[in-house]
Amino acid sequence: MKEFDFVILGGGCAGLSLAYELEINKKLKDKTLAIVENRDEYKRDKTWSFWKVTDHNFDDCVIKSWNNFSINSKFGSHEIENKDYPYQTVDSGLFYKKVLTQIKQNKNIQFFKTIDQLNLNNSFIFNSIATKGNHEVNFWQHFKGIEIETPKNIFDEEIFNLMDFDCDQRNNVHFFYTLPFAKNRALIETTWISKMDDKSLNDYDFQLEKYIKETLKIKNYKINYQEEGAIPLFYPLNQKENNKINIGTAGGMTRLSTGYTFLNIQDQSKYITNNIEKIQDTKIYHIGKKYTFLDNIFLNVLKNNPDRMPKIFLNMFKASSKTVIKFLSNKSNIFEDLSIILKMPKWLFIKNIF
Ligand SMILES: Cc1cc2nc3c(=O)[nH]c(=O)nc-3n(C[C@H](O)[C@H](O)[C@H](O)COP(=O)(O)OP(=O)(O)OC[C@H]3O[C@@H](n4cnc5c(N)ncnc54)[C@H](O)[C@@H]3O)c2cc1C
Repeated sequence: MKEFDFVILGGGCAGLSLAYELEINKKLKDKTLAIVENRDEYKRDKTWSFWKVTDHNFDDCVIKSWNNFSINSKFGSHEIENKDYPYQTVDSGLFYKKVLTQIKQNKNIQFFKTIDQLNLNNSFIFNSIATKGNHEVNFWQHFKGIEIETPKNIFDEEIFNLMDFDCDQRNNVHFFYTLPFAKNRALIETTWISKMDDKSLNDYDFQLEKYIKETLKIKNYKINYQEEGAIPLFYPLNQKENNKINIGTAGGMTRLSTGYTFLNIQDQSKYITNNIEKIQDTKIYHIGKKYTFLDNIFLNVLKNNPDRMPKIFLNMFKASSKTVIKFLSNKSNIFEDLSIILKMPKWLFIKNIF
């Protein structure tokens, strides 16, 4: 059995982001790291998008970034300009290639398919493998996206559509999300915020085809890439153990009201790297207790009043775009929080605190 100073369980976004951050900061010159990952190959499997409110290591993996976005609902369309924080989309295929090329140069880092080849007794463990449980009762953001290519130039590549609620809601919260990478190429996602027990919502292909043909009025297209996933809108128990901390989704890095996780993972990797010499005595990195509190109220409102959510989202974005983006990216100050809270229907939110 082999022994390592550090073990990362799961070489996905969080595991590889941490390994990369440790490596470029030369924390693995005299320390060893094992990464346990069971996938057979690395290829593009996700498209990570976020407002760039902090620096990260993966600007060169960005497919495209935008300074303008829109939100649509049956009440109309709202266009928002945002020069301060571009919205970036990272190609996971480019991310995996960049990280693997860098870390494979260090002989102190080794990959394993399973944990049984390792003796973990004296290692510090960073775990990104979420525990499986009966989570059907909880809320998830679940979706399918397809990247389509059209023979003609159709898309306005200067502006992306964050949410289009003008679609079938089926007593849940449902929207389409369109990222135009070029005039003839876009990622289009159908996204639901709901429990996972209603399988009737999973006819994603039908939803996408209907939206593309009837709403976007695109008749001819080919599908170049597709992705499907479900992001938990609840936190796993995140207790600190003596020799183990959870990272990534398993470590509570998802913003519950939005599903955004990627940039929080980058911040968590930097925090761990800065504290790696005394990691056993370091507090767990948290995205902010106030956001957990506010997001839980938001999700309660959403569970009890799905029909009101399109208007609530639309109103939220009527605050200054810089403020909303900082709030949704957990970088807002108390005054910015207040200006968002004041845009919400107050009694509805107060009722849902309890
Ligand atoms: C399709 C999709 C799109 C997303 N888009 C966005 C986005 O646009 N913006 C955003 O901020 N967030 C997004 N997210 C949320 C989040 O950023 C991603 O899920 C991100 O990949 C989370 O990183 P992670 O390391 O926690 O999990 P993962 O990246 O899933 O990594 C976990 C790793 O563990 C491995 N593994 C699992 N079980 C085992 C086992 N038993 N043994 C060994 N290895 C194992 C898996 O193969 C995987 O590589 C998206 C999620 C999905 C699913």
